[in-house]
Amino acid sequence: MVPTCNKCNQKKAVYHRPYSGETLCKSCFMKSIEKKTLQTISKYSMIKFNQKIAVGVSGGKDSLTLLHILKKISKRNNNEIVAITIDEGIEGYRNESFSIVKNFCKEKDISLSIFGYKDLFGSSMDDAIKERQSNKFSSCSICGTFRRRALDIASQYVNAEVLATAHNLDDYLQTYMINLFSGDVSRIGWMYPQPIEYNNGLKKIKPFVELYESEIVFYAFHSGIEFQTEQCPYMNESIRSEFRLFFNELEKIHPGIKYNCFKSMNKISKIVKTSEKNEPVKNSCINCGETSSNNICSVCTTIQMLNRNKKNFYN
Ligand code: SF4
Ligand SMILES: [Zn+2]
Ligand SMILES: [Zn+2]
Repeated sequence: MVPTCNKCNQKKAVYHRPYSGETLCKSCFMKSIEKKTLQTISKYSMIKFNQKIAVGVSGGKDSLTLLHILKKISKRNNNEIVAITIDEGIEGYRNESFSIVKNFCKEKDISLSIFGYKDLFGSSMDDAIKERQSNKFSSCSICGTFRRRALDIASQYVNAEVLATAHNLDDYLQTYMINLFSGDVSRIGWMYPQPIEYNNGLKKIKPFVELYESEIVFYAFHSGIEFQTEQCPYMNESIRSEFRLFFNELEKIHPGIKYNCFKSMNKISKIVKTSEKNEPVKNSCINCGETSSNNICSVCTTIQMLNRNKKNFYN
């Protein structure tokens, strides 16, 4: 017999949430995801009345779901929602996602702006893979460095006060482990979800940080959101994939362990953030003027590294 939703006690259940024991119908499940997103936004004071919010959209399930939910709840606080998409320049990978994002935005009447690595930094990801000095510069670390800056530039270009990205609880756990294993403790402090206002006035928020990736997929599927299925050809170079596997295996055996782990990591992150030694970065890159803890920021360092090799590569 099909179980009944134990929230409304009426409709047929479609989802079992192992970590809470809940069995939910489609409508109660969808509401639970929207409610959790709103709770996260409010808990960390992510959005204020009347603000313009740029949503970074890749065409994957997480970012399209975030755009969908933020658009849905935007009227409550009179927020304007716009979409920004970054073109990394990876042959064959982005074609599908661009058409998905364009159709989605057109259907929901959301303005969309696209910014490419090649125009912003002189190298696409395909170029960078050829131009990098060695595999020591992993594709995802180059791409991550460029993407963060590209999203900043794009948000300022569209005059947004807030940049929302769809990092979820699984991403948070993986990033924490990457920072921990690379000895980058101060970055753990930067992970705390309460947004920091940067020198340029932009606030960065992650409204899905308390949601499991698997539940976002389920929400996207039941909302009829079409999303990109093609995987990036460079993705396996990152240690992130190993941590993803590790946490998913643990969760299968111990439902809820990811959420418990998130809560512990987040407490540590808050302690690191508020410790006296973890003052927000106030220095500027001597090359581009952007906020940086070093004299030259990571974007300029990466561009310089690629440019040095460009000469060797193309001459
Ligand atoms: S998997 Fe890595 S290289 Fe590919 S788009 Fe993501 S961050 Fe960039
Ligand atoms: Zn129900
Ligand atoms: Zn710089």
